[in-house]
Amino acid sequence: MSVVNCPHCRKPVSLPDPWNASAYTCPHCHRIAPLPVLTPAVPTPAPMSLDFEEEEETPMNRPRYTSGSGGPSWMQMFTACFAGTFLAGLLLLVGIRLYIHWSIADTTNQINERMKQNSPSRN
Ligand SMILES: [Zn+2]
Repeated sequence: MSVVNCPHCRKPVSLPDPWNASAYTCPHCHRIAPLPVLTPAVPTPAPMSLDFEEEEETPMNRPRYTSGSGGPSWMQMFTACFAGTFLAGLLLLVGIRLYIHWSIADTTNQINERMKQNSPSRN
């Protein structure tokens, strides 16, 4: 004897131990209830399949999916914007520094060349 609870009326139903059927009729509410644990391949009857479809069609999954996908995308956009701004500023500073360095080097080279050109003429 194995006791299971009816999914319709929640009352315990006693079944014979070698129970090979996929469903049983509840003696309390006289409705067909499946046995998903004892039988591996359960051909679900019509009223239980409708109950499962109603449970799957509840709108609880859709807001979770959208909110979950909206959070990481916002963080990724924020991180991308921050990293892009940081890299752009870094490249701009490096470019300005190199431009100043090269311009100073050019002016110093020109000054040195002029000094070299002027020094032997004076001497
Ligand atoms: Zn029942």
